[in-house]
Amino acid sequence: MTQLANSMNAFWMPFTPNKTFKAAPRMFAGAEGMYYVTPDGRRVLDTIAGLWCVNAGHGQPRIVKAIQEQAARLDFVSSFNMSHPAAFTLANRLAALAPGDLNHVFFCNSGSEAADTALKIARAYHRVRGDGGRTRFIGRAKGYHGVGWGGLSVSGLGHQRRDFTPLLGEVDHLALPYDRAKMGFSRGQPETGADYAEELAQLLATIHSPATVAAVIVEPVIGSGGVYPPPRGYLERLRQICDANSILLIFDEVITGFGRTGKPFAAQTFGVTPDIITCAKGMTNGAVPMGATIVSGKIYDTFMARTDSPIELLHGYTYSAHPLACAAALATLDVYEDGLFDRVGRIAGLWEQGVHSLKGLPHVADLRNIGLLAGIDLEPRAGAPGARGTAVNQACFEAGILVRNAADTLMVSPPFVIAEEQIQTFFSTLANVLQQAP
Ligand code: PLP
Repeated sequence: MTQLANSMNAFWMPFTPNKTFKAAPRMFAGAEGMYYVTPDGRRVLDTIAGLWCVNAGHGQPRIVKAIQEQAARLDFVSSFNMSHPAAFTLANRLAALAPGDLNHVFFCNSGSEAADTALKIARAYHRVRGDGGRTRFIGRAKGYHGVGWGGLSVSGLGHQRRDFTPLLGEVDHLALPYDRAKMGFSRGQPETGADYAEELAQLLATIHSPATVAAVIVEPVIGSGGVYPPPRGYLERLRQICDANSILLIFDEVITGFGRTGKPFAAQTFGVTPDIITCAKGMTNGAVPMGATIVSGKIYDTFMARTDSPIELLHGYTYSAHPLACAAALATLDVYEDGLFDRVGRIAGLWEQGVHSLKGLPHVADLRNIGLLAGIDLEPRAGAPGARGTAVNQACFEAGILVRNAADTLMVSPPFVIAEEQIQTFFSTLANVLQQAP
């Protein structure tokens, strides 16, 4: 390894092939708007919003200013037995934005913590209301709910789980509601596939008594697993089955939250209201770590009515409702509400057109889109799964665009400020790369 690579060994990088990266580092020195800037001054179009989070574009001046001012005013206060006004203001803003009666917000610092918080609340909720036999969770194949023990247990990405077993024992996974032969190249929600939800009813009828199930957790649109929009009617049916069996429905909106599908939450886009929403990422435009678990009045009131413990939920983080995060989130919501949520709806059609313009190009096996999200499946190279996706990612980077790949699936999710010409540049660059990709 080079001198530079040796000096890089102290940082054990997350979800990264460390040896490969350190032999050929991809570094950024700055960012502004739609672009990252490399140390040698090259601008790279960010079509993944950092990591599904920088929805308002990089260095958004109102967010930067809010963080700077907050740091000078009140750098830190815990929310254990004390707090600060912005935490309450933000909770109210989020409650107003969330669907239905999801009006109570528990703050944390990441999507992983939001998922684990949701699972803990779900189990405790049933126990507090005297139904403590409900301990089981049901996740879904290809679901991703972060890296905490709870979230990982309900996630459905096998390769991420293998090294860490045993995970939570009482977990089942529903199948991925996808069949390429029937749903390939769908625009938006596939028209068929609602019946995949029947697997939940089957599971409850044949394997697990409903009285043992605490919650079902799904991403409304599977994100990191490859961007799979839900078939029409699928989430509605999950909701019905959960309702009929007193099972809580959790939507993990860490990616879809804050406008990605055109409404503040995907729950609103699809017209299905869960009992709990988890969110993070776009909440602060990625500028300060923050996550939240937003729960219904029914859940909150159950905890508030308990008399066996003065602290209604024995859970929390040193940095819950951190002042810098609250300031960043409030400024971010201002920016979103000043037209960015609406912008997604306005440009989603152009985005969809761009995505499906790739049909027929070499190696393209399926294309999926919804809002400002896309999943692009490439045929794997024979005997080398993942190699083509990684090669395309690198060729895109060299051509000035940043994409993300998991094996041979590209996943793209640009900031909402992407200009129409930048959408065109992105798809024409990607088309060129695919034409030449070995
Ligand atoms: N849930 C979903 C749906 C996610 O996409 C992610 C991250 O990508 C997480 C949870 C975990 O979030 P974090 O990396 O902030 O812990």
